[in-house]
Amino acid sequence: MKACAVCSAIDFSRYCTDWQGNTYDRCDSCGFVRQAAAAKVDYQSVSWQMTVDPDGKPRNLLAEREKKLRDWYGGVVGFLEKGKFARVLDIGCGPGFMLSAVKGAVEKHGIELNQECAAYIKANVPEIEVKQVYLEKAGYPDRYFDAVVLYHVIEHLDDPASVLEEISRILDDRGTLVVGTPNMGSFCARRFKGNFRLLGSGHVGLFNKKNLVRLLEKNGFQVFRTEYPFFRTGYFNLQNLLRLFDCKKVSPPFWGSVMTLYAKKKVKK
Ligand SMILES: [Zn+2]
Repeated sequence: MKACAVCSAIDFSRYCTDWQGNTYDRCDSCGFVRQAAAAKVDYQSVSWQMTVDPDGKPRNLLAEREKKLRDWYGGVVGFLEKGKFARVLDIGCGPGFMLSAVKGAVEKHGIELNQECAAYIKANVPEIEVKQVYLEKAGYPDRYFDAVVLYHVIEHLDDPASVLEEISRILDDRGTLVVGTPNMGSFCARRFKGNFRLLGSGHVGLFNKKNLVRLLEKNGFQVFRTEYPFFRTGYFNLQNLLRLFDCKKVSPPFWGSVMTLYAKKKVKK
């Protein structure tokens, strides 16, 4: 039995089966949720030009830059602008929408394994220096960045601790790490269980705020701010609020379902 990625305990209990048919187990000790038989995540299989969302709607994600910036990134762009960081890295940067929106003279770096997205960046957002390799193979120097963004990536990782360790190495001692991910402690996750819209094939490890803070602290980070992007997004509408009553269908987007944690490196004295 594989140990818990957060607390190293080995006792897990069955948690649920999701709306796609994947099953999940939950750590008895810290509540970390993981897929029982997770397939290796295939970053090429996700098409950004044509995909189907959890509500069954066909979507062209490459055409949704404005929507994505309004509804998805919460306060991250503003934070990166205000912080006047010299070098920013976005791990799993997709087509570079978030970095492309950050104004000011900042050196922008992205890691993106998906071929379609990496090609899109090279053609359309040349200011982003994109690498199509795993973070551990990217070879960035020690303490190179003042901000690293891991936005809706950690839930796809087999071994989140090893990625956090590498981030700690390449982040300046005064740098900031931003982590966004689904929140299993949220109202919708608890109410809709397997119909929580943020469960699904690629999401192999899922956190609540408490165990994510614990994992970050264990890997040398101190959380100083948490956001739950929702009320300022286009998802905050009557139709979605009404959907909260029907637990037999996939949950609507709602407050608390995603969380963004901002953390500093704990500097050793
Ligand atoms: Zn655990």
